[in-house]
Amino acid sequence: MLQFFYITHIALHFIVPGFVVALFFRKKWLVAYLLMASTILIDIDHLLVDPIYDPERCSMGFHPLHGIWPVLLYGLLCFNTKTRLIGIGLVIHMVLDSIDCQLTNGIWFQFPSG
Ligand SMILES: [Zn+2]
Repeated sequence: MLQFFYITHIALHFIVPGFVVALFFRKKWLVAYLLMASTILIDIDHLLVDPIYDPERCSMGFHPLHGIWPVLLYGLLCFNTKTRLIGIGLVIHMVLDSIDCQLTNGIWFQFPSG
């Protein structure tokens, strides 16, 4: 079950940007899609911790690139035309990860404790 859940989560990281591109960026869909889908690379911060992947862990607020300040920065990227596609891709990524946290841990964001 967790395996299915995890695969669905990863798949959504590629499917949701596809919908956004189909709706709003048709003219330059290929570049737009590749840029947005490439934001999955932000998960590189998972390599800093052990285990790399823990299905029970909420990545939002736990991994350095999934912290509150980086997330605010991703939001700001959406306002500049040159960084917009990356920004939107990152915001989608964070929203999906947050939904994942909600489903697995019942929280949207894991604030550092203590
Ligand atoms: Zn992530």
